[in-house]
Amino acid sequence: MIDRNRLAELFDRERQDFEAKHPQSKALYDGAAHLFGKVPMTWMNKKAGGFPIYLERARGCRVWDVDGLEYVDFALGDTGAMAGHSPQPTVDAIIRRVADDGGLATMLPTADAEWVGAELARRFGVERWSFSLTATDANRWAIRLVRALTGRGKILFNPYCYHGSVDESLIVARSDGEGMSRPGNVGAPVDVTETSRVAEFNDLAALERQLAHGDVAAVLMEPALTNIGIVLPETGYLQGVRELTRRHGTLLIIDETHTFSAGPGGATAAWGLEPDIVVIGKSIGGGIPCGAYGLSAELAERALGRTDLDLVDMGGVGGTLAGNPLSVAAMRATLEHVLTDQAFAAMIARATEFAAGVQRVIDSYSLPWTVSQLGARAEYRFASPAPRNGTESAASHDGALEDYLHLYLANRGILLTPFHNMALMCPQTTSADVERHHEIFEEAIRELTNH
Ligand code: PMP
Repeated sequence: MIDRNRLAELFDRERQDFEAKHPQSKALYDGAAHLFGKVPMTWMNKKAGGFPIYLERARGCRVWDVDGLEYVDFALGDTGAMAGHSPQPTVDAIIRRVADDGGLATMLPTADAEWVGAELARRFGVERWSFSLTATDANRWAIRLVRALTGRGKILFNPYCYHGSVDESLIVARSDGEGMSRPGNVGAPVDVTETSRVAEFNDLAALERQLAHGDVAAVLMEPALTNIGIVLPETGYLQGVRELTRRHGTLLIIDETHTFSAGPGGATAAWGLEPDIVVIGKSIGGGIPCGAYGLSAELAERALGRTDLDLVDMGGVGGTLAGNPLSVAAMRATLEHVLTDQAFAAMIARATEFAAGVQRVIDSYSLPWTVSQLGARAEYRFASPAPRNGTESAASHDGALEDYLHLYLANRGILLTPFHNMALMCPQTTSADVERHHEIFEEAIRELTNH
């Protein structure tokens, strides 16, 4: 059992230490008067230290802040930098596009786009690709398409999923299993139960009950939940989802934005999934804003054959800068030269070391915690056995403990993803970096448990 007084005492000590170490970051935060919530984006206020660390520069798996401190970065921009910070082939392609070629907002396609489409088709199986600037938008546009194609109104989600700020997805389950608005949902346009249904991850019976209504256009899911800890699929679950969706005339959209960590073709390839649509974003641009969705050839033909759908002008699917030459050049370079099959093998080996080391500490201190791995990503959760679905995982959240560990690690040069206890490996992450994490992690636990 965690001694809460000890936790609070240690956290206070770490807070003071953090403040003392980061005078420049603190001054920038204190001086911010023209930003909503004092930060460029309100979620940057998710900060265990009381104010955010301000970035000076980053390269590979290293970050340096404005106070001159260096970190091993296991956050990697919550997957946006899974290719490492500023990977050289991507930087070269960006510079070529911006400085040599120019033409960033011409509304004209570049040859790179077909290369990227072909590569994503090779990796994920679905044949026809379209680009966005965020995974959120790729999800939004995929949702519009499946509604149009099926003539059905609702989308089904797993409680505590995250697919970006997609209105339909901000749904959780009531105790009777029916949907309700996710707590804190800002300005919902309509009651989310009008647009969406829910079924817990790993619960095929619940899914079948919801699909039986006959009004679900698509199930939109991650093949493993990654935004409420990692919740892995049980044996047969994903095959069951595919079978049930087919039986009920419901399409299956797999969001690989995070589960891409499972391998070069994400969980779709690693686990032999057969989605109708794949969504991805973040990492494939090496940090340059991008997103993409891919449709099966059959769905693409059906959509293009519909004269009542405005796919060209203002029909609700598209963005002016989507598929722009810079974003597409960055995706090409990152997929061709950085997030390669070989790179994944090394990243996954590092994550295996990470998970094993965390497990060692959990065992030697008899902590009621679990660690889960999804390819190049590992995450520990304050529950044992591991949660089976999002609602269980949400119930195991312990904000005070999480903040303590994040701050303890940050004060000693290790960054974890602010919204998780997640560690992601990039091609440059070394075994020594992982080992460094373990030393500090164990020290944080040792102090906390007074061993
Ligand atoms: N899908 C998943 C699975 C995500 O985790 C996220 C963001 N964490 C998104 C979509 C949205 O990505 P973005 O914020 O870049 O639009």
